Parts: sequence; structure tokens; C-alpha cells
Amino acid sequence: MKKRILIITTGGTIAMRYDSEKGVIPSDELIEFLLKFPKLNSVANIDILEFANIPSPFMTPDKMFELSKFVDLKIIDYDGIVITHGTDTLEETAYMLDLTLTTRKPVVFTAAMRSGDELGLDGPRNIVGSVRVAAHPNSIDKGVLVVMNDEIHTARDVVKVDTGRVDSFESPGYGTLGYIDSDDIIYHRKIIQRDSVWTDKIETNVDLIKMVSGISNRYLKSSLDNNAKGIIIEAFGRGNIPPYLVTDIVNLVNNNIIVVLVSRAYTGRVLPEYGYSGGGKDLVNHGVIMGGDLKGPKARIKLMCLLGKYIEPETVKKMFL
Ligand code: ASP
Repeated sequence: MKKRILIITTGGTIAMRYDSEKGVIPSDELIEFLLKFPKLNSVANIDILEFANIPSPFMTPDKMFELSKFVDLKIIDYDGIVITHGTDTLEETAYMLDLTLTTRKPVVFTAAMRSGDELGLDGPRNIVGSVRVAAHPNSIDKGVLVVMNDEIHTARDVVKVDTGRVDSFESPGYGTLGYIDSDDIIYHRKIIQRDSVWTDKIETNVDLIKMVSGISNRYLKSSLDNNAKGIIIEAFGRGNIPPYLVTDIVNLVNNNIIVVLVSRAYTGRVLPEYGYSGGGKDLVNHGVIMGGDLKGPKARIKLMCLLGKYIEPETVKKMFL
């Protein structure tokens, strides 16, 4: 029997077309197109709902959380859900849903790098692939998935690594979870690392500050002045920052602001290794939390979810391990 799959549209290039004067702009033709797309209905019984029609730089954590609640409610009546989204912030929305959804059913994000009537359009193929993944029995209990360019990624690991290529999504350091072949959906590894934060609200006053050599302390000061509840520091290498910022970090921790350290390096975990002033070990001694291998934008999403539920630094710390 064919599965029932709901497609939720949120906007992005997949729902855009080129206008010779204005450039690439949102259009409302995606739903109309999908309704008339015969390939889709041969794969599953499809319903389509519009949640939003925005470029993904317009997406906010509040809207992502709203989408999560919407999906949790809608999925009761379906076997799986496919969400179309802009590629720019897709990895953040997908991860927010990965953390906060309570369902075990497949939820698959997809997008397009090419708009409207560009040659070699990737959107329709990505949507059909996503529906096939969402309808596949092996996709249950895998958390939120991302399908692009015939590849399947976990929401936790996937990153947009290129601004324009069709193969712009990768899972650095880990590789794909599987792929879409013409006859079947092939998974080739298991998911060991997965977190859930089942929360009724999120705390959005969380900053992300990237370290660069010689960086001013004005960004940390601004977080303090603006009553941030948490800060993700995208540190150098194993998790190190310039020594002159340590006073500001101590000040933040003393003001009950949760400070989490991740690395600006492409892959790998942070670790309290270096004991010099501003080194990871020194920072941990000052109450900074190690954020593992998460990339900055995702660590920020996770901290927003955690701070919606917990306020104790010790609890937040355990949830980052
Ligand atoms: N700027 C677009 C967006 O994220 C890019 C895309 O969808 O590929 O909405």
C-alpha cells in the first residue's frame, strides 16, 4: 500500500524563479507544480501544505520552533513528512527539528540550488528523492534527515559547504548516511550520536561569536550589555581563545551567562588540552562548557533549546557531552 506523505513548503530557491529585472525572487508556483507532478503521486499519496514562503535568511529560531510544533501535530495523520526549505539556513532548521520533535516517523528536509526554469533543475529530483526516503521503512527512527543531490545526511552533521554547486551539502568528517538509487534507498551507516531536547519553549537570546586573531572584546561586552543568556564561542583549533579575552569570559560566567566553546576548524571536537591563558583547559577551569564537535550555528540552536528547558549550567554541560 502506498504511504501517506505530507509535503510542507517554507520557501527558498526551490520555490523561486528568475525575473530579468529583479533577479531570483519568491514565487507561488511550487505547490501548483507539485500538484501536477505525476512522478510524485506514483511514489506516495501526497498532501501539500504551505507553512511559509520565505527565503531562508528570513527564517528565525522562533519560526523554526513553530515549524517543529506544527510537524509534531501534523505527522500524527501521515507516515512521513517532507519539508522544502531554502538552503542558506536549512541545516539550522533541520537541527532544531531534530532536537525538538517527538516523533519516530521520517521527517526529511530538501531544497534546491537552482531556481525556476534553470537548466538542470535539481528541485523536482530532490523532492521525489525525499518523498521516497520519507516513505521507506528503513527511514524510521533516524531523526531528521536531509536529502540533496541523491544523498541522505543527518540533520546533526550536514553543512552547506558551497555557495552554488548542486552538491553543496556534505557531512564533514563523517560522510553521508546513505543514498538514493533508482530502485531503492540505501543506508550504509548507523546513527550513534543523537540528542533530543523536548522543550515547550526556547531561549533565543543566545549569541555566536567567532574568534579571529586580534579580535576585539567588544562583541563579548555587547553580549553582556544585551543580557544574553548564552554565548557560543567559535574558538581556534582544539578550543583556544586570545589571552586578553579571559577576563571578559570570567565576567560573563560570573553573570550567569552560559558560555559554550566549539571550534572554528572544519572538523573535530574541542578538548580542554591547553593550559595557557585562554587555552581550553584554562577556560574550563573558569566555567566554560565544551561543545564537542558541533559547528557554531548548530551549537547555538542546541543551547537555545536547552536554555528553554534548563537553567543550571551543570545540566547544560551534561547535555553537551
Ligand atoms: N537564498 C536561498 C534561500 O536560502 C538559497 C536557496 O534556497 O538555495 O532561501
